[in-house]
Amino acid sequence: MSEPLAPGSVIGILGGGQLGRMLSVAAARLGYRAHIFEPGAAPAGDVAARVTQAGYDDEAALRAFAESVDVITYEFENIPTAALDVLEAVRPIRPGREALRVSQDRLTEKEFLRGLGLETAPFAAVASEAEMAEAVAAIGAPSILKTRRLGYDGKGQARLKAAEDAPTAWAAMEGAEAVLEGFVDFSLEVSVIAARGLTGEVVCFDLGENLHKSGILATTTVPAKLPPRLAVDASLMAGKILNALDYVGVMGVELFVTPGALIVNEIAPRVHNSGHWTQNGCTVDQFEQHIRAVAGWPLGDGKRHSDVEMENLIGDDILRVPEIAREAHAALHLYGKAEARAGRKMGHVNRVKPVTR
Ligand code: AMP
Repeated sequence: MSEPLAPGSVIGILGGGQLGRMLSVAAARLGYRAHIFEPGAAPAGDVAARVTQAGYDDEAALRAFAESVDVITYEFENIPTAALDVLEAVRPIRPGREALRVSQDRLTEKEFLRGLGLETAPFAAVASEAEMAEAVAAIGAPSILKTRRLGYDGKGQARLKAAEDAPTAWAAMEGAEAVLEGFVDFSLEVSVIAARGLTGEVVCFDLGENLHKSGILATTTVPAKLPPRLAVDASLMAGKILNALDYVGVMGVELFVTPGALIVNEIAPRVHNSGHWTQNGCTVDQFEQHIRAVAGWPLGDGKRHSDVEMENLIGDDILRVPEIAREAHAALHLYGKAEARAGRKMGHVNRVKPVTR
């Protein structure tokens, strides 16, 4: 077994958004320094020891970044493969390439999950108008057409209420390869935030219950209203995914709960918005857990000590901050973004209550 990274070591983080920012804080708390690689403006820059602002096609910048860090992790999964090749030749990337390969493409991801014996929504690959017609004939409607790559927060998606919507939905993909998914009639959306350490141990935080508005996560509530048996099943499913990928770090696994089954919606090989509640509900939160894993530490105690409702502050919600700041038991986490565009995640608030378990 290798030793944990020494104090003062540098954790390289690809992506400088709010997740990179909160990872940087966690790294600093454990005695490490964060170095962010980010092509654009970086909310993480305010709290990281160092920032490289360069594109993912800038090989020299990528190599210099890799040489200046001890291990590389990331806050988003859509890092170009060529950039990963450059980085991986210099330093370890955790979680590893297989997790990225699988999660960068919705079709590969669904096939991988099915291969593990897990349930997904019915799906069909669509790369042309003709395939779209075949897919609708097989899957039916209501259904959702999603781009295979680069979709997030409901972007790159078109809903079909009826089979007649097929041409409009396909046109909305603007030629990008897509997957048609049958609409799952779920009673609840939940997510498992799971972690796997360098030595293979797996732990899961308590399940969070998610509410989305316009395809964007609005709130996560713990405990989720889910029978304990299903909560155990969900954690076992997450464990199976992490083990199959020989994963190191934190992963978010989003699930639909239906009367007959737990259905995997998607996996995110990184800390996840639906895990933000852990910052105020657990002794060790998802960000520290991730840093622990990638730095080769034992995983921490992620047991929930409080009930929490996490509310995302999106766009103009940020105007409510003065009001929220006066609430009791409300922990604000703001990302320092100057401009409050519609749909932009500006911060979140964790409203904490004593545990009801
Ligand atoms: P995604 O970007 O795939 O996570 O989708 C965003 C949200 O859209 C999900 O959290 C669900 O609320 C909804 N959604 C996505 N796919 C489906 C599906 N196949 N059936 C029902 N709802 C879905």
